[in-house]
Amino acid sequence: MTEIPRIYDATDNPIAWIAEWAGPHEGGMTLAMKFTWANSLSAPLASRSICGKSLVNSCAQRQHSRSFLVPGWSRVARLNPLPTIGALIARRDICRYVGHFDRQLASDAHFRFCPECIRYGYQSLLFQMDALSICPIHRTALLSACRTCYAPTPRYALTADAMESPFCCPACGTPYGEKFDPRAWKCSQLHEQAEKSLLPLVRFLLKVKRAKFNWVHWQEWFGPWLGEAEEREKRIATSAALRRIVATSDLDEELFVQPARQISVSSGRGSVTLDPQALSTPTDLRPQRQIYKSIRRHMLKQLPGHVLRRQVLFPERDEVDIRNGILWLSLEKCPYLQTIWLWRLRFEQAESIVIAHPSCNRDLSLLEVARNWPWRGAGDDSVWAHFVLRGFHAAAEIVCDWWERAMALATAAERDGARTMELYVEFAKLLSPLNSPVPPSVAAVFEKQPLGKGEDWLHVVGPTNGLQKLLACCRCGSSSAGLAGNPVILPP
Ligand SMILES: [Zn+2]
Ligand SMILES: [Zn+2]
Ligand SMILES: [Zn+2]
Repeated sequence: MTEIPRIYDATDNPIAWIAEWAGPHEGGMTLAMKFTWANSLSAPLASRSICGKSLVNSCAQRQHSRSFLVPGWSRVARLNPLPTIGALIARRDICRYVGHFDRQLASDAHFRFCPECIRYGYQSLLFQMDALSICPIHRTALLSACRTCYAPTPRYALTADAMESPFCCPACGTPYGEKFDPRAWKCSQLHEQAEKSLLPLVRFLLKVKRAKFNWVHWQEWFGPWLGEAEEREKRIATSAALRRIVATSDLDEELFVQPARQISVSSGRGSVTLDPQALSTPTDLRPQRQIYKSIRRHMLKQLPGHVLRRQVLFPERDEVDIRNGILWLSLEKCPYLQTIWLWRLRFEQAESIVIAHPSCNRDLSLLEVARNWPWRGAGDDSVWAHFVLRGFHAAAEIVCDWWERAMALATAAERDGARTMELYVEFAKLLSPLNSPVPPSVAAVFEKQPLGKGEDWLHVVGPTNGLQKLLACCRCGSSSAGLAGNPVILPP
């Protein structure tokens, strides 16, 4: 009796494949490597067999065009009645778990594997989520570098590097697992364990997918200058925020790496049916003014002893340095003071802050864009209060970051004009409260309920320990705050 081949390549030729090689929640990368090895294909041939196209040779893009995260490219173009390896891989799509949060949680920058799982030729698509730091099956740390030569693993994509040496480091040839043993690939025991151990994570992700969140301005979140490391940090923070919004009891927090900067999530009612007139009447405005004023009072109470209240509330025109809409920071002024200015400039008219006479400030009018955050005032008072408070922490973080960098420049042996300019350019956008009224680290996540299932929610995501950092950063408690007498760092 002859065995009927069960799976085909892109040209309808039967291929060597054992169905038991594919494990639950397994990603396309290990499937492609098994296929390549079993059929003794070169990388270009493997690519032809999987998707009928040639390899993409250079790809410096953030998203690889042959990514195994969202492998739509491997779907065979025409309607093929035969089961193909391309179609098998195409089904291993991260969107099936997380919907549109695909790239917001996971990346194809590096193949991430568990040293235990990989001995069985297994790697889960979910391991590509940056926040997941431990394999839920074996509780060992996930790796993205060779254990022998420390070279980073190839991209999580159909590449020459990955397919030329399946399951081995392309740099030194050492197997990712302890040894290379294709007989272990159909280990049903491991597949059962994977199914069971990954279930809480899968359940959580499906909940996120079903909730259809609308994360307003996710692109702008974290600020304008993001390198690879910050993008990764942003995905880690996104995961942490979603875990707090979608509470699941059986998900083990220890599997995850926590964001380097603590974030908080606070929730209130949101209304997605927006009334453009909602905030235009003075009666509606009053609660917001009270909220803002009481938070401002609270922040003034923490004022370090060496800062005058007058300076905070009614600075002289030449004390606050605003040029081209940018608040120019200085190492000579207390960071707490400058934080309050930066924060206030996002809520109050610049003209009403920089005023010689206190009596002019009695009628506080809030900026429209701040009043209506995240748009057209779609959140209730508690949402708005969270926004005001997160905005303060955000301003504090910006000032502290700037302070640290500027201090390093000021105390360096040589004055470095180029680096001073870099610092200026990098912070210009963060210090332009007039051009970008919302601090980039504060975000809103809408959660619309299905019809008849109660009210909608609005979650405010933002930094939480800016104030703490601020109080530590300039040693405001000590007698000498800042670098008295040191020249101001920013270029004129
Ligand atoms: Zn594992
Ligand atoms: Zn290596
Ligand atoms: Zn101070």
